[in-house]
Amino acid sequence: MYKKVNKDIREKLERIVGCENLTFDSEKMVDYSHDEFSLADIARMPELVIKPKKTEEVAEIIRLANKEMIPVTPRGGATGLCGGCVPSCGGIVLSLENMNQILEIDLDNQMAVVEAGVTLSDFYSAVEEAGLFFPPHPGEESAMIGGVIATNAGGSRAVKYGVIRNYVRGLEVVLPTGTIVHLGGKLMKSSMGYNLLNLIIGSEGTLGIITKATILLMPPAQVTRSLIIPYDDLDNAIETVPLLIRRKMLPMAVEFIDREVIQITEEFLRKKWPCSEGKTYLLIIIDASSEEELDRLSEIVAETCMEKRALDVYVADSPEKQRQVLDIRSKIYEAIKAHTVEILDIVVPRAEISKHVRKVHETSQKYGIWLPTFGHAADGNVHTHIMKARLENGNIIPVPEEEWREKIDKVRKELYRDSKTRGGMISGEHGIGIVKKPFLSYVLEEEEIRLMKGIKSLFDPRRILNPNKIFD
Ligand SMILES: Cc1cc2nc3c(=O)[nH]c(=O)nc-3n(C[C@H](O)[C@H](O)[C@H](O)COP(=O)(O)OP(=O)(O)OC[C@H]3O[C@@H](n4cnc5c(N)ncnc54)[C@H](O)[C@@H]3O)c2cc1C
Repeated sequence: MYKKVNKDIREKLERIVGCENLTFDSEKMVDYSHDEFSLADIARMPELVIKPKKTEEVAEIIRLANKEMIPVTPRGGATGLCGGCVPSCGGIVLSLENMNQILEIDLDNQMAVVEAGVTLSDFYSAVEEAGLFFPPHPGEESAMIGGVIATNAGGSRAVKYGVIRNYVRGLEVVLPTGTIVHLGGKLMKSSMGYNLLNLIIGSEGTLGIITKATILLMPPAQVTRSLIIPYDDLDNAIETVPLLIRRKMLPMAVEFIDREVIQITEEFLRKKWPCSEGKTYLLIIIDASSEEELDRLSEIVAETCMEKRALDVYVADSPEKQRQVLDIRSKIYEAIKAHTVEILDIVVPRAEISKHVRKVHETSQKYGIWLPTFGHAADGNVHTHIMKARLENGNIIPVPEEEWREKIDKVRKELYRDSKTRGGMISGEHGIGIVKKPFLSYVLEEEEIRLMKGIKSLFDPRRILNPNKIFD
């Protein structure tokens, strides 16, 4: 049904962006055939990669692609974990990397206006320099603003500060027809019928290409502190979280992490985690307006953890110590990536976390598969890693492919069913992409999927924009 990018179309595209912003050299396009999902099974080479510099160029490319029936896949930093920016029908990859300007940081409105290709890392630096704070913190800072909005990314601070959706106030979007629309603005409120802005957020590049975003910023917290709490028993660790919340204690982040992956990451980075006892840890980050308040909150945390049989409470209070701890936490994936098949992204009501994690452990035993699990304990988001290796006395031993391949689907299905029975979803923050598409109906109602398909048809009747994603 789709056409190939022929010489005539290529020349037209070259006239829009200039030869230097387009490539069809297969060697240069290899990087554009995949994202951070680890299996090569879903990778596909594009026919052409194009890197526009202006919104009008994006619109012209889309108009041409729509007329010629060429699929277009928008791409940000390609840090996605479910194949969202993989050009699974071939055609054009439209990379936003050249649209990377921070256009404005408006101090009076506390909002930033940025192009979609700005990386999170550049954005955090600019916001910090302006004396403000952008709370969402998805773990990989080479992600770009457009991609982060398109996936409605979360991150560890979501429990207190919410996800990207809570900060996007305005969007410039090129629709699949090539029309440019401006949704929302520098507004704190708006009650204007159906909220198309929110429809684009999390739409994974299937309804429009985000070219600019207006983002709400916050005043920064005055002081922060990280507490590292070892436990011998995972249930006790996780059951601490609802107890903290019942005591009206809302930390900035609460992560749970198994000792075994910390050890692997310590070796990988040659850095030391502050303590070595226990089998599992809670990493609790708190923020406050003064040191006194921080002390008061730390005391509540420490008392609650000890009540739940924590072995100790370690405090990282200097910026250097906090950096060291966060560095180890954020590099766990890098340390085990070569042995990971898939990172699940199940979200359950937070009171259900310990039961779901127990199910993960049972599943690991049942199928004889290593499933290291860590995640954002206080918002119910559990990242179970399906591994193609096993751990023996701290050593990672590869497992033959036929063995792990046979097990992965069973593991996924078992855990997805468990999330459904607990009122959960199969993705809390990574999105559906290609990888989770077969499981959408496990958790969404038929009518919900039918409405979603209807929305896609309304925006993109010729199905040229990121086809084959979320649903068929
Ligand atoms: C080590 C690591 C840690 C991570 N930690 C987190 C975490 O804590 N929380 C979290 O939520 N995610 C996390 N992620 C996943 C990933 O970083 C996020 O999904 C991120 O939002 C993707 O942004 P990106 O720019 O890389 O998008 P891409 O991977 O390039 O694309 C993702 C999707 O967005 C679409 N898209 C991209 N740009 C646009 C645009 N301008 N307009 C329309 N659609 C677009 C693509 O078509 C695709 O469907 C992590 C990933 C890694 C590798």
